[in-house]
Amino acid sequence: MEYFNLGVNPIFRGTYSLGSVTLKKKGYHITEKCIGCGKCKRVCPQRCIDEGKPYVINQNHCLHCGSCYENCPVKAIERD
Ligand code: SF4
Ligand code: SF4
Repeated sequence: MEYFNLGVNPIFRGTYSLGSVTLKKKGYHITEKCIGCGKCKRVCPQRCIDEGKPYVINQNHCLHCGSCYENCPVKAIERD
């Protein structure tokens, strides 16, 4: 289960589990194929991607919207 706290900006996404159900990791991560173009950072509504080699998603703030994934010109972003 996920919950969203919309009262802070950028919003905080937390994760918790119910009972003994084990959560599968999900979301997106940036691979070594990243060429540092910065497009993902520009399209991220949460502004939660940091510059680097490769760029890095700040998972605590990521909404899993997929915008970065869809816009990366070299398909460097993969789904978890
Ligand atoms: S859009 Fe793709 S290539 Fe460009 S900075 Fe982001 S991950 Fe790297
Ligand atoms: S999935 Fe959406 S919120 Fe998460 S890093 Fe990509 S663009 Fe940002």
